[in-house]
Amino acid sequence: MSEIRLNKAAYIHNLTKICDKAGGKEKVIVVLKDNAYGHGARLIASEAKKFGIKNCAVKSEFEADEIADIFENILILSHIPTGDESAKFTYAINDIEALLKIKENTKINLAIDTGMHRNGLDISELDYAFEILARRNLELLGAYTHFRASDELNADYFVQRENFNAAKAKILALCDEFGIKKPIFHSHNSAALERASEIKDEMVRVGIAQYGYAQFNSSLNLKPVLSLWAKRVSRRVLKSGQSVGYGAKFIAKDDINVATYDLGYGDGLLRYGGDGELRLANGEMVLGKISMDSFSCKDSGEWVCVFEDANVWANFFGTINYDILVKLSPNITRKFI
Ligand SMILES: *Cc1c(COP(=O)(O)O)cnc(C)c1O
Repeated sequence: MSEIRLNKAAYIHNLTKICDKAGGKEKVIVVLKDNAYGHGARLIASEAKKFGIKNCAVKSEFEADEIADIFENILILSHIPTGDESAKFTYAINDIEALLKIKENTKINLAIDTGMHRNGLDISELDYAFEILARRNLELLGAYTHFRASDELNADYFVQRENFNAAKAKILALCDEFGIKKPIFHSHNSAALERASEIKDEMVRVGIAQYGYAQFNSSLNLKPVLSLWAKRVSRRVLKSGQSVGYGAKFIAKDDINVATYDLGYGDGLLRYGGDGELRLANGEMVLGKISMDSFSCKDSGEWVCVFEDANVWANFFGTINYDILVKLSPNITRKFI
């Protein structure tokens, strides 16, 4: 058995800091995609709703359905139009083709490409986009952009902000021309929110900051929400010279009490091959290779905390905290503490 424990006080602390910086609870779109970055979409959605957040974003209709009874306003970021969209949800439009294909009368947000070139309409396509959305009676609720490098302290962020400001002006003019209600705008993700001096006339779309991870050593003073725990399956004395696990990768120098814990790469841990020093939250090393459903370490009691800061594992594996969190299996029990 393994368990994800979610620290409710930390989550509320993070939301409070984020809302303060964004200018209010009504300004924040919580990003709950990929099972709320591995935290558990339904648990996080309920808590965010209770806190007073009104808007969220997910990846797909599948994810939106999962929390449709909790949130009224759900933006789907990566939808590929089928012509059979639901009236319950709001869909991001990632290119002109999507505008032509999505079901008439659907609620939409226009993604604007201001320099990332991943998704969205170019500013030069906006005239044509408005012709289509007016003709097809699509309901324009929002327009947004995404920064390609808000986590790097270079000029890209400022260039994209300028491009987005130009797109906003163009959209507002087109709304007047077509007699369409003005949409809301949003652009800042977590790292952009951290570095912004003030957010005016926009909402923010916050993912990782909500879960307690800052890109910069920022004044938001965020606290990690998730800790990962594993329960002991068995224990034994490993005699000097004996090894534990696949490939006999770890060999005991002295007699030690080892235990096997119920969590492995099948549960979403990255696979550790036994080289280097991968440490648990209590400082003990993982001994030998990680198995599909278990790992071994010095006996640390009935439950051991694998990590309470995903950066420890991210740094070890040369990846980012998002990657460590998002892989955690939806089958692991999750609960707020
Ligand atoms: C994932 C995502 C976000 C959230 O990013 P964070 O860095 O986690 O805050 C915001 N907007 C879009 C379009 C995304 O895909």
